[in-house]
Amino acid sequence: MSRYLSARFADLEAYVPGEQPQDMQYVKLNTNESPFPPAPAVLKAIGAEEAGRLNLYPDPECRVLRQKLAEHYGVRLENIFLANGSDELLNFFFMAFCDQERPVAFPEVSYGFYPVYACLYRLPYTEIPLREGFRLDISDYCGIHKNIVIANPNAPTGRAVSVSEIEEAVRTNPDHVVMVDEAYIDFGGESCLPLVEKYPNLLVCQTFSKFRSLAGGRLGFAFGSPELIGDLDKMKYSTNSYNVNRLTMAAAAATIENDQYYVDNSRKIQENRAYTTAALDKLGFETLPSLANFIFTRCKSVDGGTLYRALKAKGVLVRHWDKPSIADWCRVTIGSREQMDVFLAKVREILEEVG
Ligand SMILES: *Cc1c(COP(=O)(O)O)cnc(C)c1O
Repeated sequence: MSRYLSARFADLEAYVPGEQPQDMQYVKLNTNESPFPPAPAVLKAIGAEEAGRLNLYPDPECRVLRQKLAEHYGVRLENIFLANGSDELLNFFFMAFCDQERPVAFPEVSYGFYPVYACLYRLPYTEIPLREGFRLDISDYCGIHKNIVIANPNAPTGRAVSVSEIEEAVRTNPDHVVMVDEAYIDFGGESCLPLVEKYPNLLVCQTFSKFRSLAGGRLGFAFGSPELIGDLDKMKYSTNSYNVNRLTMAAAAATIENDQYYVDNSRKIQENRAYTTAALDKLGFETLPSLANFIFTRCKSVDGGTLYRALKAKGVLVRHWDKPSIADWCRVTIGSREQMDVFLAKVREILEEVG
């Protein structure tokens, strides 16, 4: 820390993203990216023609892409907000809706960025413990008079709750905003999007980073009432009017036009998830039921940190946290069948080595 940093950030602990080694020598199962490249049409969409317009600012209202999303998801233009990754959506949520009088709550085991934003804005926040088996009990969120963020399916557990459960939290906190972070919804979960019509205090947020193979493009989108979308717009136009760049918008529109490619990829991921889970079961692992493109698993004989380091030494990256409540566990992204076979082979070697 320099002597110039504002004192209000002295205690801020920044988010630590998963490792992104730039030499590409690892089987990379640590940041929930898609193992599949973008559809061929995406490469065409960001070709010389669009790149040739990079001297011009992009449309700050992102109309073409928002229109595509509106048609695809059956909502109106004024229900959609776009951001530079769903991380930026989260930033705007904490910035816009939370303060000393409007504290925020989220699960104690969830996406590590939530407490970082709460600290960044010096917000009072509550981390609500999960129940047995990392289960989220929605009654812990009903009528709590707080803004709420719930990742559904949750990360890093992969567990999901039903739309009717989420609805209870939205219905019983009418004076607060509930944000459902659906980063992993397209791997078998059920979206809360249909509730947006009914509840003016609900934001449903999704990303192009996982299901749509566009993590490098940085694009997140939120569905909500025109009032909430207007508030997010206010934050955006007070931070960076051009938060979504030209190439990313063109790429994203092409993914919507080639939806079947991504649906097929998701089916493969779900098959590989079942395959990997079954193989780990045979090796004596305990794996939580997942509706995401990753699994949360623990080995009875090797603790999470040891397994993470041993896998890394063998060229396979997974994600591990030292946080005591989850230190036994590793989060493993579901990749291609070939990647999962390498992962499983390395796990078997490690189990043999530790005897
Ligand atoms: C990956 C992830 C995000 C961030 O997505 P980006 O759009 O890449 O910023 C948000 N929330 C959760 C729960 C995630 O796992």
